[in-house]
Amino acid sequence: MAHLSITHLTKSFGSLAVLKDINIAIEDGEFLVLVGPSGCGKSTLLSIIAGLDAHTSGSITIDGHSVDGLEPKERDIAMVFQSYALYPAMTVEENIGFSLEMSGVPKAERRERVGKVADLLQIGHLLKRRPAQLSGGQRQRVAMGRALVRQPKIFLFDEPLSNLDAKLRVEMRTEIKKLHQRLGATIVYVTHDQIEAMTMATRIAVMKDGILQQFGTPEDIYDRPANVFVATFMGSPP
Ligand code: ADP
Ligand code: MG
Repeated sequence: MAHLSITHLTKSFGSLAVLKDINIAIEDGEFLVLVGPSGCGKSTLLSIIAGLDAHTSGSITIDGHSVDGLEPKERDIAMVFQSYALYPAMTVEENIGFSLEMSGVPKAERRERVGKVADLLQIGHLLKRRPAQLSGGQRQRVAMGRALVRQPKIFLFDEPLSNLDAKLRVEMRTEIKKLHQRLGATIVYVTHDQIEAMTMATRIAVMKDGILQQFGTPEDIYDRPANVFVATFMGSPP
C-alpha cells in the first residue's frame, strides 16, 4: 500500500484550474521531488498535502487513510518553506522548540529533543542566538530543525534552497539527502531546479500548467522522457 497517495486531485481558484487530475503514489521513505516551471502548481499541491489549502476534487490518503478534512496539525506532516519564517524575537532554541511547547511537551524533554536536532543539523553552538545573528544557511538549518523536531511522518519542502547562493545550495542539497537517509523519512520536495530533482529524488513528478507530465524514477525521466516538454525541461539528450 502506498504511504502517500494522491488520486484524481484537482484544484481551481475560481475559474482558474491550477491542478488537473494529479495522480501520484509513493512508498514509505521515498524522496519525491515535484519539479516544473514557476506557476505550474507545485506550491499549491504542497499546501493541499499539508492541509493549508483545500482541494476541489479527488483525494489524498496517508497509509490508506483519507486526510481530506483533517486540520494541518492533525496530519503528522511538517513543512519547510522557501522563506524561513523564523520568529525574530526568539532564540534558535526557542524557534526550534516552539511547536513542542505549543503541544505541551515538558521543558526537559524539549531541551533534549531540540539539542539532538540541533546537533544533527550542526547548529548546536548557535542555540542562544537570534535569527538576525545567523547567516542564510544557518537560518535555513533552523527552519529545517523546526520541522525535524516534530518527528512527523512526512516532510514537505517548498524550494528550501532557492534563497541561498550556489555553493551553499550544493552543500545543503547533500545534507538534506544525508538527513533523508539517516531518518528514513518520507519527503516531498518542491523545486524548479532540474539538477536538484535528478540528484535528490527517488521519484520525480514533472509538472507543467497544472498537469502531471511524467511520474517516475530519475532514470525513467532522463532516459525515457514522456514527451518533448519533459525532455527539454529535464535536459535529456535528444
Ligand atoms: P508554483 O509553486 O509551481 O510556482 P503555484 O502553486 O504557486 O505555482 O501557483 C499555481 C497557479 O495558481 C499560479 O497561476 C498562481 O497564480 C495561482 N494561484 C496560487 N495561489 C492562488 C490563490 N490563492 N488565488 C488565486 N490563484 C492562485
Ligand atoms: Mg511555488
